[in-house]
Amino acid sequence: MISIGIVNVSYIAATILFILALGGLSNQETARRGNWYGIIGMSIALVATVTGVVTQNYEYLLVALLLGGSIGLILARRVQMTQMPELVAILHSLVGLGAVLVGFATYFDPEASFSGVEKTIHDIEIYLGILIGAVTFSGSVIAFGKLSGRISGNPMLLPARHWLNLLLLLAAIWFGYQFVQESALGAGINPLIVMTLIALMFGIHMVMAIGGADMPVVVSMLNSYSGWAASATGFMLSNDLLIVTGALVGSSGAILSYIMCRAMNRKFLNVIAGGFGTTSGGGSGATVEGEIVSIDAEETAAMLAGAKEVMIIPGYGMAVAQAQHTVYEITKALRAKKVKVRFGIHPVAGRMPGHMNVLLAEAKVPYDIVFEMDEINEDFPDVDVSVIIGANDIVNPSALEEPDSPIAGMPVLEVWKGTTTIVLKRSMATGYAGVQNPLFFKDNTRMLFGDAKDSLDAVLKAL
Ligand code: NDP
Repeated sequence: MISIGIVNVSYIAATILFILALGGLSNQETARRGNWYGIIGMSIALVATVTGVVTQNYEYLLVALLLGGSIGLILARRVQMTQMPELVAILHSLVGLGAVLVGFATYFDPEASFSGVEKTIHDIEIYLGILIGAVTFSGSVIAFGKLSGRISGNPMLLPARHWLNLLLLLAAIWFGYQFVQESALGAGINPLIVMTLIALMFGIHMVMAIGGADMPVVVSMLNSYSGWAASATGFMLSNDLLIVTGALVGSSGAILSYIMCRAMNRKFLNVIAGGFGTTSGGGSGATVEGEIVSIDAEETAAMLAGAKEVMIIPGYGMAVAQAQHTVYEITKALRAKKVKVRFGIHPVAGRMPGHMNVLLAEAKVPYDIVFEMDEINEDFPDVDVSVIIGANDIVNPSALEEPDSPIAGMPVLEVWKGTTTIVLKRSMATGYAGVQNPLFFKDNTRMLFGDAKDSLDAVLKAL
């Protein structure tokens, strides 16, 4: 058993390390260091809590640590890069579930001896903790289902859904009032259970109403919710570190959600209310004119070798094909031929924030040729060849041209303004939003059909 003083000092050290971790993660060059700060901070926090805060029932703790640790280790080792977003969603759901369980355990705690105002505050903590936890839990489970394809990506739009949300919110406030009143008299379990059911329903409804292309905002928002759920758990358990850590996750997730909203041209408030940007009901009503023109790997290689400026746009298909290493080999070959090669990254490319940056970093693509959408979107008129590797929604002109499209208003990479666009994909299938892409039918677009890795291997060979 270590003293409470040492626990507090450890907690402060862990908090500082978590802040440094967040700072490090904000930049690709320092991200690795940021990760280490996080790992060391979490290890210090765990050791301090286990040796200084826990006083009994060590056997349960050990079993839980071993069980949870082993499951986490096995899952993390097995998970494919393409399944990461689902893993993140399901982990968020566990934080939510944790908050709900801690909330009920705290409510039933026979040793709790609060009275007067303290009791009211404690009850509000329990109520809010369970509320946020339950929304996070059910919302994240649905997000997991949507990201893994188990649930359709189409938005479920109930009639008067905003009124339903408002009703659920008012009911949650009313039952909160009931709970605090009844709890003061030693009861209150009924309103607590009813609110939990309401919160679970709200989480399901909120995420079900989101159309495929808008999922990135929901993922980052649930990330934020999971932070607030952890923070609420910290209040219930009177654990300062959990309060601070949860608040860090909650606020950084909220900032990320805001950035995602801006990137997708959506209003933050609409996200929280659910079902935004889905006026058309998710149809694929893009107007498509023109013909599909195919190209083979040799022609692609010749075109690339003859270009002065090449822009590579990676998307979800590059992650599926695991083509990032070949992409970099091609980049090196082209740069050796004095071709200027740059990468353009859309903020919602792939299936999680930063997905493409992670893959390119893994393949050791230098950071100074990787650009955000805003940095290069004006440059396409000067680009000779844009190579779209397994991307679809993020280069879909109907986002700008079709007001009824489910992705209407979302800024996209305007590749069609360049001289030639080569699109690598396996078929004419739509992207995540389920919308047809008029880019494929434009005069200056060539389609290189096949698995992106196979196609790029052939291009590399021809180069
Ligand atoms: P899309 O899902 O729009 O398109 C990916 C394309 O890749 C498909 O059209 C598919 O076509 C092709 N593809 C799949 N596998 C392969 C393969 N092995 N080889 C070659 N091509 C392949 O991806 P984008 O990156 O363009 O857009 C991301 C979408 O995901 C957006 O709608 C975004 O909103 C959404 N989203 C993003 C999240 C994020 O945080 N980044 C989270 C959740 C959703 P085909 O089958 O014909 O090969």
